[in-house]
Amino acid sequence: MAANNTLEPDVSQLTAVGAADEYVTPLVPVEAVDDAGEMLSSPVADRLPPITDLSLYELRSVVQEFGQPAYRAEQVAAWVYRSTIAGFDEMTNVPKALRHAMAERFRFTALDSQTELISSDGETRKAVLALPDGELIESVLMRYPQRWDGTGNDRATVCVSTQVGCPVKCSFCATGLMGFTRNLSSGEILEQALHFLRWTREHPPVVRNVVFMGMGEPLLNYDQTMAAADRLVDPKCAGLGVHRLTVSTSGWLPGLARLAEDPLAVRLAVSLHAPNDELRNVLVPLNKRFPVTQLMAALHEYQEKTERRVTFEYILLDGVNDSPALARDLVRLLHGLDSHVNLIPMNPVAELPYAPSSAEAVERFHAVLRERGIICTVRREMGRDIKAACGQLKTEFQKQRRRPSA
Ligand code: SAH
Ligand code: SF4
Repeated sequence: MAANNTLEPDVSQLTAVGAADEYVTPLVPVEAVDDAGEMLSSPVADRLPPITDLSLYELRSVVQEFGQPAYRAEQVAAWVYRSTIAGFDEMTNVPKALRHAMAERFRFTALDSQTELISSDGETRKAVLALPDGELIESVLMRYPQRWDGTGNDRATVCVSTQVGCPVKCSFCATGLMGFTRNLSSGEILEQALHFLRWTREHPPVVRNVVFMGMGEPLLNYDQTMAAADRLVDPKCAGLGVHRLTVSTSGWLPGLARLAEDPLAVRLAVSLHAPNDELRNVLVPLNKRFPVTQLMAALHEYQEKTERRVTFEYILLDGVNDSPALARDLVRLLHGLDSHVNLIPMNPVAELPYAPSSAEAVERFHAVLRERGIICTVRREMGRDIKAACGQLKTEFQKQRRRPSA
């Protein structure tokens, strides 16, 4: 794959287009494929769309176009979503002609793992993955195996990215520093979950949860994000439970309105980080467009329609948003909403002027919420030693690539 010369994109030269627009359609006619021989390699293989970009419906029409019965699509989907094979030629119950035809028109996978870091306790793995056009994204696996002392719930969660960079530019976030390059396609999103799903089949606990909390703002890439979610829960594809998917947003209200009407009942997390406009304008600049009162009104409406609990993420920044007075303001703000607050210890980012709150400040903040009846957890710090806050590892990886080798 010709990724190396494009690992350091000049972001200013790129325009924000949906990923799928950038792929070319097949150039090699299916009839020209040799049925008997080896897998033919296409001169445009690098530019082919990944098979994971197709819905099951689209996959059925593709196999029918190739003169095969529609049920072949389900066989193909089983291989793509529930096996550990590495290419079309390993789909042993699929006719060779169809395997060849698909290989000429699609790439089997959109992702190419560049590097993987493992935390010192072995339970967090972070991957930097290259996309077909050479852009880089990050995905994280968090394992909570059941232990002899009863801790851990024997689950594994994957955190996936939905964009390259992010246009929201929150002031504490490494991804925000990168600016925005492009949206991911549905295949590029869901394959991040497949990447770790495959690995955990051999290293349980198997992935059951997917959180759309990596790089990017999922609701600014709504269609591709929800298409990815759809195939992750489809029993004929990855077959995960719909309630095990969580979409996290910084508060893009048009997307929130769509989510409230969406038949796919994913869970919602809202990155609040501050209970008033003055502070939230600084931390989450999108707040200037959709201020706190508008956000809360939209969430009440969302809850009336869906009857689903809303999780609030609140990253604790030393001396910025961690005072007991702000905790009390937060309690008032959440009044009347079925909510859960997740307090997140900040992962320090070298280029940014914030530090994590002290353990005492976290406990003080937590206590105010708890004593006033708010359901609240402090997120277990995972993988700080491997730069687990979104965007940090990619930044580090690119810096190392830029350094001339000695
Ligand atoms: N854009 C969406 C989803 C991706 S960001 C959103 O903002 O909700 C997901 C989470 O990563 C956010 O809640 C944010 O708080 C967290 N995050 C970003 N930078 C972080 C850092 N330096 N330390 C800890 N968490 C961070
Ligand atoms: Fe984007 Fe979320 Fe990072 Fe904010 S916290 S810049 S919305 S990825």
